[in-house]
Amino acid sequence: MASYADFYRRSIDDRDAFWAEQAQLIDWQTPPQTVCDYSNPPFARWFAGGTTNLCHNAVDRHLAERGDQPALIFVSTETDQETIYTFRQLHAEVQRMAAVLQGLGVKKGDRVLIYMPMIAEACFAMLACARIGAIHSVVFGGFASGSLATRIDDAEPTVIVSADAGSRAGKPVPYKHLLDEAIQLAKHKPKAVLLVDRGLAPMKLVEGRDQLWGALREANLNAQVPCEWVDATHPSYTLYTSGTTGKPKGVQRDTGGYAVALAASMRYIYCGNPGETFFSTSDIGWVVGHSYIIYGPLIGGMATIMYEGTPVRPDGGIWWQLVEKYKVTVMFSAPTAVRVLKKQDPAYLTKYDLSSLRTLFLAGEPLDEPTAKWISEGLKGKPIVDNYWQTETGWPILAVCNGVEPTPTKFGSPGKAVYGYNVKLLDDQTGAELTGANQKGVIAIEGPLPPGCMQTVWRDDARFVNTYWSSVPNKLVYSTFDWGIRDEDGYYFILGRTDDVINVAGHRLGTREIEEAISSHPNVAEVAVVGVADQLKGQVAMAFAVLKDAGQLDDPAAMLKLEGEVMKVVDGSLGAVARPERVRFVTVLPKTRSGKLLRRAVQAVCEGRDPGDLTTMEDPAALQQIKDLVAPVV
Ligand code: ATP
Ligand code: MG
Repeated sequence: MASYADFYRRSIDDRDAFWAEQAQLIDWQTPPQTVCDYSNPPFARWFAGGTTNLCHNAVDRHLAERGDQPALIFVSTETDQETIYTFRQLHAEVQRMAAVLQGLGVKKGDRVLIYMPMIAEACFAMLACARIGAIHSVVFGGFASGSLATRIDDAEPTVIVSADAGSRAGKPVPYKHLLDEAIQLAKHKPKAVLLVDRGLAPMKLVEGRDQLWGALREANLNAQVPCEWVDATHPSYTLYTSGTTGKPKGVQRDTGGYAVALAASMRYIYCGNPGETFFSTSDIGWVVGHSYIIYGPLIGGMATIMYEGTPVRPDGGIWWQLVEKYKVTVMFSAPTAVRVLKKQDPAYLTKYDLSSLRTLFLAGEPLDEPTAKWISEGLKGKPIVDNYWQTETGWPILAVCNGVEPTPTKFGSPGKAVYGYNVKLLDDQTGAELTGANQKGVIAIEGPLPPGCMQTVWRDDARFVNTYWSSVPNKLVYSTFDWGIRDEDGYYFILGRTDDVINVAGHRLGTREIEEAISSHPNVAEVAVVGVADQLKGQVAMAFAVLKDAGQLDDPAAMLKLEGEVMKVVDGSLGAVARPERVRFVTVLPKTRSGKLLRRAVQAVCEGRDPGDLTTMEDPAALQQIKDLVAPVV
């Protein structure tokens, strides 16, 4: 077995040979002639000239060997449904969907906007688009009409696929009227809207535009739609970033590079084998859902669980019950979900037989020590592996690659630079590379980005270059806009977003550092720290914490005492310079719908500014609490 260090080196120093080998993990109709065309940086064209198809690699390719094995396991604890589709059944459903989309006028290169709950038909629709060379654009089902309208105008879809309703905590969440409003608001009008009627909410159909999946499926039961062989560089989808730091960016992904990157990641990072079951608790509206609910596991010949429901219904054991039932070997979730489970009885974690489970992967935001410890202890020492990446990259930038060489994890670190990523730490003021250990800087990637990463911003090459590749003068490097350090062993630690770095009297601190310190207080469940302009010190840190025991929230004296305690904890671990000016207590923090803290909104409110684009915010009441707390007393 090669050492990871050698494997990594080769991926950078002998890039083309390395990726030519990985390209053999997937099927090609025409093998690529070139590996990486980087003649027009920063635009990388991976495997140009090769033709392939994502749906073929996810579905058709497995028919001969595992046609009758589970491919898609749809579980809804909202509607009490559980349906297993074998690869053969999935193949049939996808062809039905593909025939229906073609019947509605969708052609190669056309966009199809998918605004759907976590139901099997959403998976059929994504794969059907890939099959016929259409470009899907999945919009998270929780978005309201305004956000949806912007995305309709950006994607200009030929067809929109949707449903009558989603469901949350047992209550239907109607979609159709939001969709109708969005289409009204949008300048672009789709030719047709294809609707899955789940019988959850009444729908008024628009004549000549709205079509029902149920009827059209029946009419296409025996459809045979061959895969459209597309160039490796043909766009497979567009997807928006979470909008944590500003206006969401439309990420465009290719076909061949993405398939190769995912196939390789299943082997080297997630270590999932064909015939096993993968369970990602994300949503198809996010990048994790694209890469590791749909494409990655299926390309790897694994069954994938698509779960509609919360982690705590019917009880806090539901995910572990599914692990037992479907013998899940690889599980993927987010720290925010684990924090939800933390409020449940830990006995749920040991109630089921989890012997099949090898690893729980977590990604999406910093994994704090108390959360990591809680889940690791609860799962009786099963490995918890943090990994760091972005919608833009589509697969991990930082991780431990146990499929190459067993690698220990370090607490608080998502691991080392992943093969293919030439990761650098840069001084954010000068752009100079920081080569020493334990220096703080911006995490950047020298071009070309590896296969699977974004090709460009959809229809906006200039925005791609200006947003991501222009932060260092005279040097083409991709900025992640995350701030971190690397230790002497090559492990990275994320300290927060570059936007969030706090400058207190000349000391530069990542929000993550202060948050980590505060969350070690036994009564703190969750905390957000932001830098707020201060005439004297430049900036001061402000903290907003959610308490585990919120019983005394109405008692000002108790809160003042607690505030003092929390400040002491910070003094003890980081020094008085990092001590927040105030620590205030709230019942909930403002987050994006993908579960990320919206620090920019908190900061704006603290500085009395307009918080800007809040369309991706989960619960407006959370920001209101902070507004009420910081409002000047008149
Ligand atoms: P926007 O770019 O629109 O502001 P966003 O950055 O939140 O939104 P995503 O692509 O969903 O959109 O999130 C990627 C970001 O999430 C990373 O840049 C990083 O800040 C954070 N992140 C992801 N995984 C981890 C991790 N394992 N540890 C720490 N932070 C993480
Ligand atoms: Mg981002």
